[in-house]
Amino acid sequence: MPKTSEQFDMIVIGAGLVGSAFVLCLRQQAVARDLRIAVVERSLPPTPAAANEHWGLRVSALSPESVSLLQAAGLHAKWPQLRPAPYADMRVWDADGTGAVHFSAKAAGVESLGVLIENAALQTALWQQVTQDSGLSIYAPQAWTNLERGLGDWCLTLSDGNALHAPLVIAADGAQSRVRELAGIAVAQRDYHQRGVVCTVEHEKPHEATAWQRFLNTGPLAFLPTDHPQQSSIVWTLPSEQAQAYCAMPVAEFEQALAQAFEHKLGAVGLLGERASFPLLAQHAEHYACDGVVLIGDAAHSIHPLAGQGVNLGFLDVAALVDALVAQRKAGLPWAHERAQRQYSRARRGHNGLMMHAMSGFDLLFASELPALRVLRNIGMKAFEKSGLVKQHIAQTALQGRR
Ligand SMILES: Cc1cc2nc3c(=O)[nH]c(=O)nc-3n(C[C@H](O)[C@H](O)[C@H](O)COP(=O)(O)OP(=O)(O)OC[C@H]3O[C@@H](n4cnc5c(N)ncnc54)[C@H](O)[C@@H]3O)c2cc1C
Repeated sequence: MPKTSEQFDMIVIGAGLVGSAFVLCLRQQAVARDLRIAVVERSLPPTPAAANEHWGLRVSALSPESVSLLQAAGLHAKWPQLRPAPYADMRVWDADGTGAVHFSAKAAGVESLGVLIENAALQTALWQQVTQDSGLSIYAPQAWTNLERGLGDWCLTLSDGNALHAPLVIAADGAQSRVRELAGIAVAQRDYHQRGVVCTVEHEKPHEATAWQRFLNTGPLAFLPTDHPQQSSIVWTLPSEQAQAYCAMPVAEFEQALAQAFEHKLGAVGLLGERASFPLLAQHAEHYACDGVVLIGDAAHSIHPLAGQGVNLGFLDVAALVDALVAQRKAGLPWAHERAQRQYSRARRGHNGLMMHAMSGFDLLFASELPALRVLRNIGMKAFEKSGLVKQHIAQTALQGRR
């Protein structure tokens, strides 16, 4: 078979939560209607849980801004079918039992602090929306072998030997981004030597639409409410070896350890389905754009999940990049002009860096065994709890992932 070579204005590589949202948000713009976009994704989204089943392993806490972005991207009508679980309160406390912070939607004057959603449900809905757009060229599931810079264009060689060309490549291929590597963009990395154990559990007492987080000196343990009043999704940060041991231990033993680590706040817990663990790395690309390759989402930054910010930062990248590209196009410049790439990098790199440092700082502070730091931490939490306006501001900004 002769090999084909197709020309596009833009190739988006990776159509996970962030890549799909980017494509859909861009396609909402009138100036992008004639844009020739290729979407290349190596796998199809996981199957979401049926309406009467418990949620799958991976969930995201979405900020109200992320929800608005996703609904505007085309998910508004099907949103209720995705079983979103709004949460109105967040309770964070220290294993020492001396410091506690309560964020409340009511006190902040908002309807909810955000929503929890099953990743598979969201990813499937976004993917369906992408595949329904007949103006896109979709390559999925599709492997590729090389990406190289030619004269004025990037050339992506697919595993069947066919090639795609475009002057602009959007890398949304996640934390292990191959596109980033081939574009020669370095990353600063911090390995926490921790893993996040995730699973879904049922519990005796209702979760009261509250996101609960207990800081232990091994790392935070979060119970995140699902749409079922007595089921929560767990993210338990543990040293790597311990996390693997907890995933392998007999179910009854695990349930007991989990309930105990959570101080039996919601009574006895029962495991629903599997457990899994993910390595926790903080990673930040040294550049967000280089020579026509632009990084978004985890390809640009990955962050400790303790404040559930990763994908929210990715959606903020999406909004900033779409704004920059559209403004550039309206100014009569080509899509691949470097002005939008510079504007996007300026808008997002500093903000993401700040969030990453804040999360690493929290992790260090709560993991510390040093008595002086523990005292300081408890005084700090008490003062913060009493800080009224400051606390309200934090609830509305940092923890919500706002710009
Ligand atoms: C334990 C844990 C809990 C978390 N909880 C939260 C939370 O509550 N809230 C939150 O905001 N964030 C959370 N996060 C972070 C969040 O999951 C990520 O930030 C988010 O999934 C990143 O989305 P992405 O689309 O950038 O990358 P990914 O989700 O990694 O998607 C990348 C996509 O690219 C595709 N791909 C990869 N390589 C290629 C290739 N070579 N060619 C083509 N396609 C490719 C993949 O198949 C995938 O579809 C958590 C993370 C962990 C580890």
